[in-house]
Amino acid sequence: MEVVVAKTAGFCFGVNKAVNMIYDLLGETEEQIYTIGPIIHNEQVVNSLKDKGVQLIYEVESAEKPGYIFIRAHGVVPEIYKEIEEKDLKVIDATCPFVKRIHVLVSEKYKEGYKIFIVGDKNHPEVIGINGWCNNSAFVTDNPEDIKEFKANEEDKICVVAQTTIKYETWEQIIEILDRNYKNVEKFETICNATSKRQSEAAEIAANVDLMLVIGSRNSSNTKKLYEICKEKCSNTYMVQTSGELPPVNIKNIKKVGVTAGASTPDWIIKEVIQKMEELSKQSNDMDFKEAFESSLVTLRTGEIVKGKIIGFNNSEVYLDLGYKSDGIIQMDEFTDDPDFDPKKNLAIGDEVEAFVIRVNDGEGHVLLSKKKVDAIKSWEKIERAYENKQPVNAKVVEITKGGVLASVGGVRVFIPASQLSDRYVKDLNDYLKQTLDIKIIEFDKRKKKVVGSSRVLIEEEKERMEKEFWDNVEVGKTYSGTVKSLTDFGAFVDIGGVDGLIHISELSWYKIKHPSEVVNVGDKVEVYVLEFDKEKKKISLGYRKAEDDPWYNIDDKYQIGNIVKGKVVRLVPFGAFVELEKGVDALVHISQISTKRIAKPGDVLTIGQEVEAKVIEVNAVEKKINISIKEVNPIDPVEPEEENNAANGEKDAEEVPTEHVEEMSVTLGDLVGGLENSQGEKKDE
Ligand code: SF4
Repeated sequence: MEVVVAKTAGFCFGVNKAVNMIYDLLGETEEQIYTIGPIIHNEQVVNSLKDKGVQLIYEVESAEKPGYIFIRAHGVVPEIYKEIEEKDLKVIDATCPFVKRIHVLVSEKYKEGYKIFIVGDKNHPEVIGINGWCNNSAFVTDNPEDIKEFKANEEDKICVVAQTTIKYETWEQIIEILDRNYKNVEKFETICNATSKRQSEAAEIAANVDLMLVIGSRNSSNTKKLYEICKEKCSNTYMVQTSGELPPVNIKNIKKVGVTAGASTPDWIIKEVIQKMEELSKQSNDMDFKEAFESSLVTLRTGEIVKGKIIGFNNSEVYLDLGYKSDGIIQMDEFTDDPDFDPKKNLAIGDEVEAFVIRVNDGEGHVLLSKKKVDAIKSWEKIERAYENKQPVNAKVVEITKGGVLASVGGVRVFIPASQLSDRYVKDLNDYLKQTLDIKIIEFDKRKKKVVGSSRVLIEEEKERMEKEFWDNVEVGKTYSGTVKSLTDFGAFVDIGGVDGLIHISELSWYKIKHPSEVVNVGDKVEVYVLEFDKEKKKISLGYRKAEDDPWYNIDDKYQIGNIVKGKVVRLVPFGAFVELEKGVDALVHISQISTKRIAKPGDVLTIGQEVEAKVIEVNAVEKKINISIKEVNPIDPVEPEEENNAANGEKDAEEVPTEHVEEMSVTLGDLVGGLENSQGEKKDE
């Protein structure tokens, strides 16, 4: 089979220019672009621009600034320019220069007093635009018989112009009548050269082929005229919009096929049609064209589940190529229920989508589809499987209801009672709204469409598993990451993964603290280690403070015998004084190591808070004791006048040890024990 394609088929100069201009503009601006009317009479191109955000409007007042108004090749009435200016919008004027020339002509002649006559279709946007330039006063027709309604006197000056895409024959017929009836007819044959060339080439091809295809939109004026021209020459002429509309004819009788296309038909559609013709021709060796055509098409039935690739989308619709003669369309409310769904973020051209056929033809040539229905069918199957296999599923909470929440599992609503949300009391159900939970299906009745889920069951199962794993592996010294769950006066309870352990207050810090909150708070993440545990009683004691944080850690390195140290007197006892060398490290100066002279009690020469200098005379890291001597560095002797009395008393003390001093000793021994516990290595406060 031979295919003859018209050289003039497809975009004309004006349409090509307009299409390029709008795509250029799309690449240059983020602002909204509006077209007044479809940029060209081609659904595929218009949809593609719509997908890119170009908004189709019919009145300037529908546009909002900031934005661009794009004037298509057909041109517009002058009022549109004024309205654009008044609305402070930007204008991109793609009026074809050939049309613009008619605007100028009509405007000038109208001002000169001519009656304007337009040979054209009065409803065509180009003609409406032209008429606007003579204050909408023109008489418009493309039917010679209507001329009798043209109200003009024989002497009137008449200016005749043509719609650029009108058939030349129509023009000739009307001019002939006008010339016959009026004396002053000024004629401007404004039929576009591209149109006349396309028409004559199409006529020539149609006259010599067995089948003629005219590709273009059914609402394109020039495509319709091409069809009429070709039909006159070839009775086997068909108008097709896409490759999906090839006519079911008997291919065995066809040796030569002619192809032309309207001015608004993109090249890729022409190529698709030719390619499809060639494929059918190859398939048709032993079947007729109709059979070959139909066998190449996907057949669809209502209720069927089909797969398609996304060829376009906007905020309200998604278009799918189904390999069928018509494209599929999914309204956004049939695509998803997810209120957070953003087509720009979540969809991409070429993505495969499964959809349910609601109607094979929605009345506008689309296959009406629903993705939600497919999701729901699949989700019911998934839920049923999960219920039978006791497997968890993912559910998003979408609504709070009385006594619980409703969660969506792929579009299927699952009720989760409040008591099944958690293993703890849930104060406010709203905390769960929009949350995604793992749930187990605990009740399933497909017939009644009743599904009940539980998060609690899974939480408890998980806790049980973790607890078992913990007790199987726990050992003294093992470290865990945990979360502080609660505080008491005697310590902090920490969740270490399904099991709670206690850090005793004495294990929280190396220093004496009054309450655990001085070190940790509820919710804190902490690293702990096991001090001891009892598997039977399920009790664990945890350690928190670290050895290296102990001020007595490596004390031998810090303080060595003979070192001169400085410190502050923090406590006086009958047998000496405690000097704080650093936080948590107190050293003892025995009474005999304070002065070179005899003193009755340390308070005679030392006061709390006094800074002293001393020599380290003993370090016992195990018992956490350091002894220092002031007298070996800088002895503090009693003041002279009192020296004798003190000395006498001192001798007396040594000899007699009066009763009051015995009592003082008994009291201060208690202090001594406390002092030792608190200063020289804190003992666990049990
Ligand atoms: S058909 Fe002619 S006049 Fe019309 S847009 Fe194309 S080039 Fe311009």
